[in-house]
Amino acid sequence: MPKPYKFTFTNKILTAAHKHCTNNYDAICSSKICGCFYCLEIFSPDKVDHWLEEGSGQSTALCYCGIDAVIGGQSGYPINKTFLSDMHNRWFSY
Ligand SMILES: [Zn+2]
Repeated sequence: MPKPYKFTFTNKILTAAHKHCTNNYDAICSSKICGCFYCLEIFSPDKVDHWLEEGSGQSTALCYCGIDAVIGGQSGYPINKTFLSDMHNRWFSY
């Protein structure tokens, strides 16, 4: 039997953090580090070379895995495996 996933962060935090993965051009570009909570990679923002153009607002960073699940350190959220795993399980597990 697989163990149920145990969250470190609260649902409230994980829900609020999700806003930072869209319209985040300025935030990503001013961050030193960013992470993707789909593939759980942590990388430098200058590695982001694909942006999703939205009708309004700023562009949205696309991870090289192809998913718009990139959050920059400038958002104030911790960019580490624990946080990204929590985000992954909150938003990508069914
Ligand atoms: Zn990714």
